Amino acid sequence: QADLSDDRTVLYDEASFVDPDNNLALMSELRDALRRSDVSLHYQPKRKTSDGSTASVEALCRWHHPVRGRIGPDLFIPIAEQTGQIRVLTEWSIVKAIEDQAALRAQGVHLAIALNVSGRLLVDEAFQARALQLIEGCDADLIFEITETAVIENPKIAAQAIAAYRAAGVRISIDDYGAGLSSLSYLKMLNADELKIDRSLIHDVVNSERDRLIISSTVDLAHGLGMTVVAEGVETEDVFDVLAGLGCDTIQGYWVSRPLPFNDLMRFFDNRHSE
Ligand code: C2E
Ligand code: CA
Ligand code: CA
Ligand code: CA
Repeated sequence: QADLSDDRTVLYDEASFVDPDNNLALMSELRDALRRSDVSLHYQPKRKTSDGSTASVEALCRWHHPVRGRIGPDLFIPIAEQTGQIRVLTEWSIVKAIEDQAALRAQGVHLAIALNVSGRLLVDEAFQARALQLIEGCDADLIFEITETAVIENPKIAAQAIAAYRAAGVRISIDDYGAGLSSLSYLKMLNADELKIDRSLIHDVVNSERDRLIISSTVDLAHGLGMTVVAEGVETEDVFDVLAGLGCDTIQGYWVSRPLPFNDLMRFFDNRHSE
């Protein structure tokens, strides 16, 4: 597989992130960063196991700080969630994804775009009003991957929010399933179209009979509930083969492609079409 971009995140100084004052300074810069386009969306394809076509692409944000260099989302997303900045960032990413989707369509590529939306925002009414306003009235094809489901305390509000998004044509995905303390109760609470099995359950699948058993029963359960199953973090063909055999509908990971800057995404499709 062609590796079209070097997506590794360079951390310039990990110690400074432990310092809360520094984190606050960083967050006050985020709004400006969005305005100056120092934040961008990279896109990672999700490939169907049935025919190898691209089911959708996931938007993953990247912050290129003028002084600090590249800052990875694993560092600034948790801070943005604590400071409430995640709302501005996610609203920005909806606008940007709709724009990029229109540009892809203009080139003949029709693709659903998946956005990460934290459990906190799922139940945030102000965010919901703004998100629906952005989505309604344009024919965007979006998927919300709900991350941090553990923070959802009120299942009723979460269910109402999901119903509102689905009514607006947004598909819902449960992200990081099987990571941390995520549990079966989320399947009851969140009426979703897609289940994403966390990387931690995927990487050892060739060697671990237990992991294969957990995955195959999760696939059965999800299919029984009408959901498609995505396996994330697939890095090798061996792992791909096992997961396809276990019934996973869609595969995502470095083996298919790293997250790509928008221009490289365009090239990814050009290459595939000329294969
Ligand atoms: P996630 O949603 O679970 O995204 C998958 C992460 O795994 C991404 O890291 C991706 O680059 C990485 N990855 C993909 N394929 C492979 C693989 O084959 N092997 C390995 N080792 N890693 C792989 P990234 O981009 O650093 O994002 C980390 C997390 O930050 C994401 O986890 C997501 O929860 C959060 N995030 C990223 N962008 C956004 C955003 O725009 N909004 C929100 N709310 N969260 C975001
Ligand atoms: Ca995700
Ligand atoms: Ca995930
Ligand atoms: Ca994750």
